[in-house]
Amino acid sequence: MINPLTGKNFEPSWRIAEFLPEALEFYGGVEARIGRQVWHPLPVMRLAGSDQEWQKIVSKLAVPDVAPWVRGEVAARDGWVGAVDVRGGGWIHAGDFLTGSCEFFKNLGCYQVGDVSRLEASDRVIWCDGAAGLLAGHLGPHRCAKGEILTVRATGWDETCIRIGAGGWLVPQGGEIFRVGSTYEWNELDGLPTEKGRVRVEEIVRRLGGDGFEIIAHHAGVRPILRRSQPLIGPLRGGGWMFNALGSKGSLYAPGMAGRLARWLVDGVEPEPEVDFRKFSVQSDLNESG
Ligand SMILES: Cc1cc2nc3c(=O)[nH]c(=O)nc-3n(C[C@H](O)[C@H](O)[C@H](O)COP(=O)(O)OP(=O)(O)OC[C@H]3O[C@@H](n4cnc5c(N)ncnc54)[C@H](O)[C@@H]3O)c2cc1C
Repeated sequence: MINPLTGKNFEPSWRIAEFLPEALEFYGGVEARIGRQVWHPLPVMRLAGSDQEWQKIVSKLAVPDVAPWVRGEVAARDGWVGAVDVRGGGWIHAGDFLTGSCEFFKNLGCYQVGDVSRLEASDRVIWCDGAAGLLAGHLGPHRCAKGEILTVRATGWDETCIRIGAGGWLVPQGGEIFRVGSTYEWNELDGLPTEKGRVRVEEIVRRLGGDGFEIIAHHAGVRPILRRSQPLIGPLRGGGWMFNALGSKGSLYAPGMAGRLARWLVDGVEPEPEVDFRKFSVQSDLNESG
C-alpha cells in the first residue's frame, strides 16, 4: 500500500511529494514493458476512532504539506467519530510486479537466482538483501520490525477505497478479496505467522470491514529498518554497495532510491547526504561511542 498521510499524527510520508511522482512514473514504465497493471490507485478513507484522534486530524487539515493530499471530510461509518478522504494512495500488486519483471529479465538473458552470501566483496556487488542483510548484522545496529497480515474473502464489502483506522489498514484487491494488516513486533524477528498475530489482525478486519469473512492466507515478514522508514544507499567500507532500509514503505521509496543509486554508480552523481549510507554509518558510530 502507498498512503500519503500516515500514523497517529496524520503526517505526510517522508518526502512523499518527490518520491510518489518518481514511483508512479517508474511503475507506469514497468506496466508498459511487462504488459500488466501493477499500480492500483484507490482513495484512502482515514477513519478516527476517538474524539482525540479526530481533533488531531482536523487540526492538520490546513497545514501546507498536508492540505494537498486531502480531498475533504466524508461521512464516518457507524462506530467512527470522523473520516477524511485522502488522495494519492493505492496499492502495488507486488506479485505481478515481481513475476512480470522476472520474465522481462529472463527474456533479456540476464536473470539468475541463487544464494549470493559467498560472493566476494567487489565494487560490482549491490547488497539489496533487505531484512536478511540487516539481521545478519552487515550494516550495524538495526530496528527491524516483524509484521503479520491476513488475506480475507468477504461478500458485499465496499471495494472502492482503502480504509485506515484503529491502528490498521484494509486494502481491497478486487473480486471480494482484501488484504489487512498489520502487527508490529521488535523482539521475535523470525518472519513466521503466529496465533497472536492472527488474532490481532482479525480484530482489525472486524473493525474496518465487518464480520462474515473467510481467512484465505496469513503472512508474516520483517520490515528492514535502520532509521524509521527512510532508505539508505551507498558504498560499503569493505567493498560493494548497499541499498536497504526501505522500512514499511518499499513500494513508495524503492523506485526513487534505485534511480539515485543508478545515477551514482553510472554517472558519479552523489545523492542527497541524508540518504548516503556513509554519512549515516559515521553518525551511528559516533552515537555508539558517545
Ligand atoms: C507486514 C508487513 C507489511 C508491509 N506493508 C507494506 C506496505 O503496505 N507498503 C509498502 O510499501 N511496504 C510494506 N512493507 C515493507 C516492504 O515489504 C519492504 O519495504 C520491502 O520488501 C523491502 O524491500 P527489499 O527489496 O529491500 O527487501 P526484501 O523485500 O526483503 O527483499 C530482499 C530479498 O533478498 C533476498 N536475499 C536475502 N539474502 C540473500 C542472499 N544471501 N542470497 C540471495 N538472496 C538473498 C531475500 O530472499 C529477499 O527476496 C511491509 C512489510 C511487512 C513485513
